[in-house]
Amino acid sequence: MTASPPAGGAVPWPARPQVPSAHALYLHLPFCARKCAYCDFASWATRDDDPLVVAYVRALRAQLADLEGLGVLGSVTTAYVGGGTPTLVGARLLGELVADVRRRCSRLTELTCEANPDSLGDDMLEALAESGATRVSIGVQSLSDRELVSLGRIHGAREACERVSAAVESGLDVSCDLMCAIPHQTEASWRESLAGVLGCGVGHVSVYPLAIEDKTALARRLGGTDPAWNDPDVQASRMAQAALILSGAGLTRYEVASYARPGKQCAHNRAYWTGVPYLGLGTGAASMLTREGYLHLRTCCPQLPDPPAGAVRVRLTVRTGRRGLARHPSLAGLSCDLEFLSEREALAEDLMLGARLSSGIAPELVRSAEQTMGERWRQALRDALRKGLVANACGGALAPTERGWLLGNELYGLLWGLARA
Ligand code: SF4
Repeated sequence: MTASPPAGGAVPWPARPQVPSAHALYLHLPFCARKCAYCDFASWATRDDDPLVVAYVRALRAQLADLEGLGVLGSVTTAYVGGGTPTLVGARLLGELVADVRRRCSRLTELTCEANPDSLGDDMLEALAESGATRVSIGVQSLSDRELVSLGRIHGAREACERVSAAVESGLDVSCDLMCAIPHQTEASWRESLAGVLGCGVGHVSVYPLAIEDKTALARRLGGTDPAWNDPDVQASRMAQAALILSGAGLTRYEVASYARPGKQCAHNRAYWTGVPYLGLGTGAASMLTREGYLHLRTCCPQLPDPPAGAVRVRLTVRTGRRGLARHPSLAGLSCDLEFLSEREALAEDLMLGARLSSGIAPELVRSAEQTMGERWRQALRDALRKGLVANACGGALAPTERGWLLGNELYGLLWGLARA
């Protein structure tokens, strides 16, 4: 039996491991003008005229062509060009890449490009709209110049507002990323950042507490101390403030960090949270495939090993670096980290992802957990209900509570713990 999800829609659990091909496509452009102080993503400071940029984009396009030849793009309904800073590569190159994705994925209904304000000129907006992008996700992070400097961002608040407004006027759907619990931030400045992006007319906002990652410039600057501005209580209070302000402005929280006006949810991100298989291209990019999808991909990636018996899901992360990929774009030469998941592990993963959504863990997923995990599931459920992390919701769904979201690590850890047999 095979199942085919609607655009951006979830597939009920029992059918998920049988979905034959990817329905979401991610392309990673790992270039940035400068490395931000807090960033541990796969991204490197690169001059926009570095010949590597052109060669890398050409390599991604060659891989896209190979995947189309393999027949695995026919089911793709959402695409996301992320980074890094995709807009750093310039309007012509990014426009050509977007147009290529459009051409090769005939069922596409949503195509997002990540952007930073400093490389989102009018020419870029025009190129994105003309080449078939439908959405732009802008890394604003803050509308306080002092906070932006402390994060190592290269844009200023005025430039950010100006470019977000221009993006809204261009007719693309616009999302902004904002960060809380950052240096120098106060309740008042956080409110101003939220009000500022809302004032530009965006339809989608994502808010994240800053995570201080090891080996970043910020972690070195802090020298192992835990700053008061990043305290868990500060994070919780800023996230609660965001929930009030954004919902007051008509944006509904549909995921722990995501708010949208009606019809403006990100279908691509929803695919990640609802167990829809996805393909990731580019250095550091991740794919999640069913066993069947993996076996199909292996026909042009003979370097990939046989999946072990019992594996129903495979996660692949591209380890080939940006230079290696630019030199040798062949899929057959890609080096990947692999993780094979059993049915139980895949189910636990989907329970954990479902708990990120305000709609919660879907009723059929709850039923499958009960059938597959029995007493282990019932015990975890009792714990989660007793601690107030989840609540019973309509139709047999299980919805995260505000407390569950605030104590996300505890809730997700409890659900992921079910992966152990
Ligand atoms: S722009 Fe984004 S990807 Fe690039 S360095 Fe800053 S945080 Fe990292």
